Amino acid sequence: MQTPSSTGADCVIVINCGSSSLKLAVLPAEGETVLLKGLAERLGGPDATLTVEKDGETTVTSIPSASHHEALQATVRSMDGLTPRGIGHRVVHGGEEFTASALIDDGVMEAVERCASLAPLHNPANLTGIRTARSLFPGLPQVAVFDTAFHQTLPPKAFHYAIPHSYYEDLKVRRYGFHGTSHHYVSLEAARMLGKRAEETSLITLHIGNGCSGCAIRDGRSVDTTMGLTPSEGLVMGTRSGDVDPALHQFLQDQTGMRLGEITAMLNSRSGLLGLSGLSNDMRTLSDAARNGHQRAALAIEVFCYRLAKSTAGLMAALERIDAVVFTGGIGENSAEIRAATAAHLAIFGIHLDDAKNSAHANLISSTNSRIPCLVVPTNEELMIARETLRLTS
Ligand code: AMP
Repeated sequence: MQTPSSTGADCVIVINCGSSSLKLAVLPAEGETVLLKGLAERLGGPDATLTVEKDGETTVTSIPSASHHEALQATVRSMDGLTPRGIGHRVVHGGEEFTASALIDDGVMEAVERCASLAPLHNPANLTGIRTARSLFPGLPQVAVFDTAFHQTLPPKAFHYAIPHSYYEDLKVRRYGFHGTSHHYVSLEAARMLGKRAEETSLITLHIGNGCSGCAIRDGRSVDTTMGLTPSEGLVMGTRSGDVDPALHQFLQDQTGMRLGEITAMLNSRSGLLGLSGLSNDMRTLSDAARNGHQRAALAIEVFCYRLAKSTAGLMAALERIDAVVFTGGIGENSAEIRAATAAHLAIFGIHLDDAKNSAHANLISSTNSRIPCLVVPTNEELMIARETLRLTS
């Protein structure tokens, strides 16, 4: 199979491949409206499904035991009338090998494989997506867009851990940062909203969804971020603890006999909002519960906002001046309550929100007397990947 149709609207396919899932979006080569969305879940299992949204219609098909290849093949069948010009892949870890998106060839695939030790759950799945797309569309240019690439401009003082230097030299242990595609996209959008050139704009961008990270952007370049070697470092997230005392693992092992892998799994999957509240990792559920008197839901929200504000204040140390604080991600874009509670901790910096604008999720939510403007900018990683794909393939 080369292309689903030899003539038709030019488009770009964006693929985000997980170990048992495949997300696909088809965007027009010109314009921003998604033409088709596909989501294959529980791949390889008996209850695998494929959901396709096209022309306002959603179809869910059972695809028992389907592989990534079969799921992509089934999705592509719905692409009648669309002619792909290229395929963009989200790749989680580019290590120090990739400072920007890359046109995929065998060398790029080998480099992504070399980075797999840094993201063992993600990079192999991303490679599966690339191999599958290559076999279905031989000859169609493909581009890898890395979550880490935007943060490769971090200076040494921001990316080194204070551990023996040999771990960096031998194993590349350092801070990498993630969500780079989102931070980059919203920084460009924020610059546009502020009427400034991106390379003259300094921001703190807060991507807060199920995963959360903040980024200090000086003159358009990432100079610090809250995630590190892995996406576990930094802020409190849906199920991830964020920063904890490095001695915690030893303490828990001594006290409970838990193995290292169990402790890591607990910090990744049973901590954060879920662990604190004992109720849910979903901010909407927690906000409702807190309003109805659930004390641990309220505690989870308090810790979340306080830690977010504390990290935002820390990121300011990376900047010489600041044009705006930008909220994005599912929580950042939709929860006026979380934005207000976070901003309240930052009043010492002269940050003040306008309640009405904040409640309305306006683009500019700070009050006229705020020393630092605060913005809400919806993220769009798929659009950014599509743009990168077009940039490198045209
Ligand atoms: P994301 O990972 O970016 O899709 O974000 C998911 C998070 O956004 C979940 O915690 C959702 O509860 C949260 N979220 C989405 N909509 C809202 C909303 N209206 N109010 C509060 N949280 C929301």
